[in-house]
Amino acid sequence: MKLDLLGDRQRTHYCGELRKEHAGQTVFLAGWVDVRRDLGNLIFLDVRDHTGRTQIVCNPAISSAVHDRADEVRPEYVVGVEGEVVARGPGTVNPQLATGEVEVMARALLVLNEAKTPPFPIEDETKTSEETRLRYRYLDLRRGRMQRNLRLRHGSSQVVRAHLGEQGFQEIETPFMTRSTPEGARDYLVPSRLHHGYFYALPQSPQLFKQLLMIGGFDRYYQIVRCFRDEDLRADRQPEFTQIDIEMAFPQRDVLFDIIERLMEKLFALVDVKVERPFARMAYDEAMEKYGSDKPHTGFGLEWKKINIPSTIAPRLTTQNQPVKYLKAMRVPGGASISNSWLGKLEEHAIAGGADFVRTVKVAKIGAQLQIMRELFQEATRTLGMTGNDSGDLVVLLGTAESSGEISLSRRLAEASNEVRWELADKLGVDKPSTRNFLWVVDFPMFDYDEKEKRFAAMHHPFTSPREEDLEKLESDPGAVKALAYDLVLNGSEIGGGSIRIHRQDIQRRVFKVLGLSDEQARERFGFFLEALEYGTPPHGGIALGHDRINALMAGESSIREVIAFPKTASAVDLMCESPAGVDPEQLDELGLRIATEPTEG
Ligand code: ASP
Repeated sequence: MKLDLLGDRQRTHYCGELRKEHAGQTVFLAGWVDVRRDLGNLIFLDVRDHTGRTQIVCNPAISSAVHDRADEVRPEYVVGVEGEVVARGPGTVNPQLATGEVEVMARALLVLNEAKTPPFPIEDETKTSEETRLRYRYLDLRRGRMQRNLRLRHGSSQVVRAHLGEQGFQEIETPFMTRSTPEGARDYLVPSRLHHGYFYALPQSPQLFKQLLMIGGFDRYYQIVRCFRDEDLRADRQPEFTQIDIEMAFPQRDVLFDIIERLMEKLFALVDVKVERPFARMAYDEAMEKYGSDKPHTGFGLEWKKINIPSTIAPRLTTQNQPVKYLKAMRVPGGASISNSWLGKLEEHAIAGGADFVRTVKVAKIGAQLQIMRELFQEATRTLGMTGNDSGDLVVLLGTAESSGEISLSRRLAEASNEVRWELADKLGVDKPSTRNFLWVVDFPMFDYDEKEKRFAAMHHPFTSPREEDLEKLESDPGAVKALAYDLVLNGSEIGGGSIRIHRQDIQRRVFKVLGLSDEQARERFGFFLEALEYGTPPHGGIALGHDRINALMAGESSIREVIAFPKTASAVDLMCESPAGVDPEQLDELGLRIATEPTEG
C-alpha cells in the first residue's frame, strides 16, 4: 500500500485528551489503529496512543478519500488524522472511554505505516502466553497495562531521587565491570581481551563500592542500580534486577528506618495507598517461631506457638521410633469446617516440607483421640490460650524428630510450619488482606551453621556488624551472636535488606576467622577493601531495596516481569533478542577462550 508522509504536521492533542469542551476545534491526532468497525457507509477507527483512545468517524459524505483510505487500514497501522471534534449525541456517548463524549470527523487520514497482523490483540487483559508476550515484547508494551506499569515505575524512580536528594544522599555510579562482591551468589563473568585468562565480574550489588564511598567521605550515597546474580532462577527472580542502593556514614538504625519509611509512604501514595508509620518491628527469632519465616506476612493471624512436650508423654511421643524434639501448634479459627481429605493432604505436604510429625485435630473431635494425643492437645490448647469456646476450630501440631539430615531440626520445623501456614491461609482465603503490612525484621543471627560443610556462613554478608553487646561471644559462641542486620518485609515479600557494617579492621578480621577465611584468603578476595578499612573508616550502614519488587507490589502485579520492560524468562533467556547467543570463533580467539562443551539448548 502507498504510505503517506508525515511532512511537517504536528500533533495537536494526544488520543486520550479530547473532551466536550474541544467540540468545534480542528485537531490532528496520531497513533495506532486500535479497532476498526466498518458499518458499510461509515467506518469507525479507534486511534490509540499511550494516553488513551479517540473514536474517528470516516464518512464518505465528508471525504470520500478518507473513507477509501480507512477501508484499507487494519489494527496497529500507524495513522494521522485531521478533523473536527464533535460532541456525540446522548445515545452514542461511550462512558467506558475517557474521550467517550466526543468523536473526530476525519477530513484527512494519513496512513504513516502498515503493520503485520499482531500475534495477539493489544488489550489490557490478555490470555496470551507469557512466552509469546516476551517474544514480541514491543507489542506487549503497547498494552495499556504495561504502559501504566512502566510509567508508574518511572514515577517511583523520580520519587526515590527526590526523597533521597532532599535527605542529602548523593547519586553516584559504581562500576559494572568489577570483581566478585560478597553477596555469595554465582557471578556473571566478563572475559578480558587485554588480559587473557582474567575476568571481570558483574556486581551482585555495589556493596563494597558504597562502603568505599563512605570511606571516601561522601556521607550519604544512593543509586538506582542494576545487580547481577547467576542463580538458578526461582519463580520470580531475574538474573539482572534493580536495587535502590543506599549507604550512610555515622548511621543510627532508627534514622535510616525513618528515611525508608517515609520513602515508602511517598511511593505508595502514587497508587493512593496510605501507609501507616512507624512500621512494626519483629525479631528474627520471634518471626521464625510464630511464622516459620523471616519474611512473614503479618496481615492475618494463623500464628504458631512453641509447645513444651510434657515430660509425662515425652518418652512415648515418637515418630519412626525417634522421639519428637521440637513441637509447634497453631489454632485455626473456623478450621473444623475443612474437610478431612484436605487435611490429610495438608499432613502429607507438611511431611514433604520437612516435618516428621503432624496432627490436625478438630477441637470437637478430640475426645476420640488416643490418650497421649489428648494430653498433648491439652498442653497445646493451654499454650495457645484457647478458652474452650472453640469447637469450630482446628489445632495443628507439627514437630521434628532427631534424624541425620543436613538441615537443622529447628530449620526444618520452621520451613514446614511456614508452608502449612500458607496452605491454610490460602484455603481459608485470608491471605489477601487489603492492608499493606510493612514489617522490619531485626536481630538476625550473624551466622548460619552449614550442617553439610560443618562451618559457619555469614547470614547476610561478611561485612555486617555483630551487635556490640555480642562481640565477646564472637569466637566462643558464634551461633548466639546477633547481627545489626534488618530486612524490610511487605505482605510476606522481602523488599529490602541491609545492615550496619563493620568499620573496624580488628572486628572484620575476627569475623573472617569465624567464617573460616584465613588472612590470606580474605586478602585474596577483598584485599583492596581491607586495606581501605585501615585508613580511617567511619561507622556506616545502609540498605538495598528491591525496586522491581516494590513496583510490582505497587502495581498489584504478582510477577516482577510485569514491571520490567525487557525481562528474561525463568531460564534466564531473552526470547525477543534471543540471548544468550553464540559468538563468532574470532571473538573467542580474541578473548583467548575455547568452548570445551557442546552448546546446550537454551
Ligand atoms: N548489598 C546487600 C544486598 O544486596 C544489601 C546491603 O547490605 O545494603 O543484599
